[in-house]
Amino acid sequence: MSLLKIEGLGKTYTAPDGSNIQALIDANLSVETGQHVVFIGASGSGKSTLLRCINRLETPSQGTVWLDGQPIGGRFDAKGIWQPITARELAMQRREIGMVFQGFHLFAHLSALDNIAIGPHEVLKKPLDTCRQQARTLLDKVHLGKHADKYPAQLSGGEQQRVAIARALAMNPKLMLFDEPTSALDPRLTHEVLAVMQELAQEGMTMLVVTHEMNFARRVADVVVFMEQGRIVEVGPPQALFEQPQMELTKQFLSYVM
Ligand code: ADP
Ligand code: MG
Repeated sequence: MSLLKIEGLGKTYTAPDGSNIQALIDANLSVETGQHVVFIGASGSGKSTLLRCINRLETPSQGTVWLDGQPIGGRFDAKGIWQPITARELAMQRREIGMVFQGFHLFAHLSALDNIAIGPHEVLKKPLDTCRQQARTLLDKVHLGKHADKYPAQLSGGEQQRVAIARALAMNPKLMLFDEPTSALDPRLTHEVLAVMQELAQEGMTMLVVTHEMNFARRVADVVVFMEQGRIVEVGPPQALFEQPQMELTKQFLSYVM
């Protein structure tokens, strides 16, 4: 059984003028434990919508996401009719999925250490000492052991993003979603963050990553997914997809970015 299974996933937004925007159309994908999937595609192609529908930051308009065999956000009753679960139950499912965004969204009034410790303490109700100990280990892991007591404003963007990664890891997720985690960073800071993500990948974390960093995709991805106008156009190992794209749309996109 796949760790993550996306079946017929679709999302239609209503634009301010009342028209419909089909941001995601019939997406199907399976992700195995330990796999690293990189999503590429032009701006507006639906990459963020897909990631956000997985952990239900957006409610999908169609389709189902299964994590470890459990549908996210609801269940099918005896008649096969979808019944949404409670907000509380959804919050418990969401803990299984870590997410890192382009913006770092750290708590400005908490130290790096406590940004990481607060989730397990308040949500998982673990003792603060234990959470801080674990947070130290995680700070070492993202190479920020010396910055435990600094506040976000005292850290570079790359350091803040690494704290954000450690914070997501503190909840011990089954998979991690990254939505353009380095797009706000200059090249050197980008490198620091990608290096940490690569280490995480090497340790076997299951990861779904939206990025424009094609070298990262080549090095780390098991599977690259190319999206265009809300659809998954092509899926394949990086070498095949980059060197021998099968679809005309993929060829066109790669000719712009490579
Ligand atoms: P990407 O991440 O690939 O740039 P998005 O998933 O953000 O693409 O967007 C896909 C499409 O959905 C775009 O046309 C975008 O304008 C639209 N869209 C995204 N979020 C919303 C929203 N909250 N309301 C209306 N339209 C949206
Ligand atoms: Mg996006």
